Amino acid sequence: MKGRIHSFESMGCADGPGVRFIAFLQGCPLRCAYCHNPDTWECKGDNLFSAREIVEKALRYRSYFGEQGGITLSGGEPLAQSKFLIEVLKECKKEGLHTAIDTSCSAGEADWAEVLSYTDLVIADLKFATEEAYQAHCGGSLQKVLHFLEMAEQAGVPLWIRHVVVPGLTDNDLPEILRLATQFSNLQRLELLPFRKLCKAKYENLGIPFPLNDTPECDFALIEQLKEQIPNQYR
Ligand code: SF4
Repeated sequence: MKGRIHSFESMGCADGPGVRFIAFLQGCPLRCAYCHNPDTWECKGDNLFSAREIVEKALRYRSYFGEQGGITLSGGEPLAQSKFLIEVLKECKKEGLHTAIDTSCSAGEADWAEVLSYTDLVIADLKFATEEAYQAHCGGSLQKVLHFLEMAEQAGVPLWIRHVVVPGLTDNDLPEILRLATQFSNLQRLELLPFRKLCKAKYENLGIPFPLNDTPECDFALIEQLKEQIPNQYR
């Protein structure tokens, strides 16, 4: 089996612990208003790799991974190619690589249990605080996300939650996001990411209107201010 890959990052430091090889898988069922990778939405293209080929690439950087690093499967939405994701994760485990998935928890439901059995860390988005906002601003379901997180908790897989702070859209969500996230005993970290508009050129090139064109970016001072609400153990 081959998977459709958007791109690779050889030594990432922002998507999981330590230094990591990151594979961005093509395809995503959601359409988040603030998405900065609209070029990953469609599961198409000729950038095809087998699971073994991806792991061979990652292994070239193994000496940089240290005790904490490893491989992160991101997207797009890695669960959108769940069967292929399982193959990659299995190959990683054969090599003793630490595995993380960076996911919106919104695809591949039938394969969630098997995916989680080969995953060492779930990095999950909690995008909005209500079901209505999920449906309105990304076309997803909060209940589905929470179901995936319950399964990750039951499987004993450590959890990092991410929340993008968008002025006027999600900047008041943190208390509820905190309430939702801290119900999971496997939660290790809650990260706030500032909304940015560097992606505007991608939307223009693709001929897709950028829904948040008129929304201001989130400044780092607001992130620092909001972080004060997060208990130290999750920072
Ligand atoms: S889940 Fe990620 S890739 Fe998919 S639309 Fe949302 S931000 Fe974009």
